[in-house]
Amino acid sequence: MECDLLLYGGKIVTETHSLPRGYVAITNGQIASIGRDWGEIKAFESLDVDGKIVVPGFIDMHTHGIDTVSFMESNEEEMEKGLLRYTEFGVTRVIASTISNTLEVITNRLKHLKKVKESRENGHILHGVHVEGPWLSSRCRGGHPLKYLRVPEKEEILSVLEEDGDAVVSVTFAPELPNTVWLTEELSRRCILPIIGHTDSSFEETERVILAGARHVTHMYDAAMGYKEDPQEALVMLPGMETAVLLHDEVSVELIGCPVHVPQPFFKFIDKVKPKGKKVVVTDSLVGTGLPEGTVFTSSDGRQVKVTRGVLRMIDEDPAINGNLTGSAVTMNVALQRLKEYAAISLEEALSWGTINPARILGIDRITGSIAVGKAADLAVIDEDFNVYSTLVKGKILFEKRKP
Ligand SMILES: [Zn+2]
Ligand SMILES: [Zn+2]
Repeated sequence: MECDLLLYGGKIVTETHSLPRGYVAITNGQIASIGRDWGEIKAFESLDVDGKIVVPGFIDMHTHGIDTVSFMESNEEEMEKGLLRYTEFGVTRVIASTISNTLEVITNRLKHLKKVKESRENGHILHGVHVEGPWLSSRCRGGHPLKYLRVPEKEEILSVLEEDGDAVVSVTFAPELPNTVWLTEELSRRCILPIIGHTDSSFEETERVILAGARHVTHMYDAAMGYKEDPQEALVMLPGMETAVLLHDEVSVELIGCPVHVPQPFFKFIDKVKPKGKKVVVTDSLVGTGLPEGTVFTSSDGRQVKVTRGVLRMIDEDPAINGNLTGSAVTMNVALQRLKEYAAISLEEALSWGTINPARILGIDRITGSIAVGKAADLAVIDEDFNVYSTLVKGKILFEKRKP
């Protein structure tokens, strides 16, 4: 057998099992063969992965930016460079998230992101866009500016989706807002994933959109309320969003791989209560991610921000503001490593949260998300601690760690 590229000698984590020592052969950007014995294979190029682990490339279904690149502000050339930066952390597919703004600004970003995806050399790393807001709860808005939050009006949603919606793969909204059952149905009809998030919704409001087709929760336990106290009965708790999404097995849940945004016991809890395949880890990362510890920069709203142990914190003379959390700066490999540790699960189990699970939820599992013959050769070479040595997208080596 002949192939373009052969990865040999390492542990191979395939879709169904792990080979302690094996190979992956790649031809025309696809996985052509997987096995234990590579002696007879003639390879045009080969990569010795002895002592390492070959895993599916990571899929980050919620990220706003990396390094100095923001999907809300950077130009197309910068965004293309940003996509390559993700590969240093084992990522082979990215869903670019927007942040609440005017509909004009959001639709303008959709145009640019679509162009990056379709016409840039490594544009296929960008799978699509997650529209996060402006249809969010003002109480649970998190980093989304209050002045841009809106009620989902039918005409304006249709105009966004019809003119510039091709690149949109998911939309996060708060179920308690008007028109959200209609919005859920409209998104489902267009094969766009309706996502619950940034919400203060009741059990009933949440269940209504689940029955209409909402199938995922944006950064669970971050910027969303769980229970509420019954105003009629002292200390009686009313079920809220959390109960509804945990009761419905068809709804998947994402956690930010960061102990500041998601307290550690939640990782074990979600692993226990959600069915296999319905758990995802994301970065929700912003500009500044991947920059050295202690880097200080000015964010788009003019605030001074510092990279501090995987999160971004404000720098201000006012002690009440200084040190406040402004967002996540975790990378996918670190998010997965933490998940493995916090949930006390195997490397293979943790990997599924950042590979095949998001691929299935996004409907791209036939082409990527696991190591199986016929799928795209989207691969990462890592060690037990999720340090990344090489990343391949469609069989092309886009990142290789320099030897010291
Ligand atoms: Zn958010
Ligand atoms: Zn976000």
